[in-house]
Amino acid sequence: MEKWRDLVVNFVEKFIDHYLTYFTDSYELILMFILIPLVLIVGERLTVGWKDSSMRRLWEPDDNAKNDWAGFLFRYSMLNEILGYGLLLGIALYIPKEIRFYFGYNLVQQIPLPIVQAVMFFIVVDFSDYWIHRLEHKSEVLWEMHKMHHAPTRFNVISGLRTNPLSDVSIKRILYALPLAIAGSPVETYIGVYLLRNVMLSIQHSEFKWSLGWFGRYVLISPVAHRIHHSVEEEHFNRNLGTVLVWWDKLFGTWYEPDPNNLPRIGVEGNDLNHPNYLVNIYRSMKAAWYKLFT
Ligand SMILES: [Zn+2]
Ligand SMILES: [Zn+2]
Repeated sequence: MEKWRDLVVNFVEKFIDHYLTYFTDSYELILMFILIPLVLIVGERLTVGWKDSSMRRLWEPDDNAKNDWAGFLFRYSMLNEILGYGLLLGIALYIPKEIRFYFGYNLVQQIPLPIVQAVMFFIVVDFSDYWIHRLEHKSEVLWEMHKMHHAPTRFNVISGLRTNPLSDVSIKRILYALPLAIAGSPVETYIGVYLLRNVMLSIQHSEFKWSLGWFGRYVLISPVAHRIHHSVEEEHFNRNLGTVLVWWDKLFGTWYEPDPNNLPRIGVEGNDLNHPNYLVNIYRSMKAAWYKLFT
């Protein structure tokens, strides 16, 4: 009993410490994460006009946009981490350490040229993103939780941040642990890749209906390509699963060429994850996942 009490006290103490360090050490990074959507929201407003803009929807939020706001606040206040790690009692902090101990080859860090190191690290992360995302669509349990990301019925620049804390924080941390241990994750490169992914995430979940032309066909997942991923049309299901690069979808047969003149409606059929209370949606998606796990 004593041992268990010590374990819990230790976990809570570590967590508070981790939480405070996050705000004091990473305030520049947090500002960047807030600045990126802000710049895009203003840019999008100037490009598509007030009526269709994210700015308008976030200013006068309906149930969909209320959830976008909540997803944004949960992400950057670390509420996602508290819930995500807490629900698995911190196991997701422990397992990656063990994986690093056994598989910490740090292969990418052996490359002498920093620029090549950065490119290789980025490719490893993007490749892992693709397969983990594919798994989130393939596994019925993970899909119930990932569905929160597919719940938006309109994009609002910050819609991409809507995620289930258990799958997005804990389970994903465990899934990413092996590739990151093998590759090694140099701090500066890690932050750079994380920022780039955030810029892409914000652009992809906006009303910018850019196809990016040749670049969007052969290099980057454009906003219209990612819109296909969120489509309600059955022929678009499980397509365009990549995060930044289009290569993996093309290589592994999940690419769908978007038509910028014929864009689909987004969301999930029979969606019950747009309740105005974000916590209700988290609870609903967890309950559905739990049900899938045991039936
Ligand atoms: Zn998805
Ligand atoms: Zn998305």
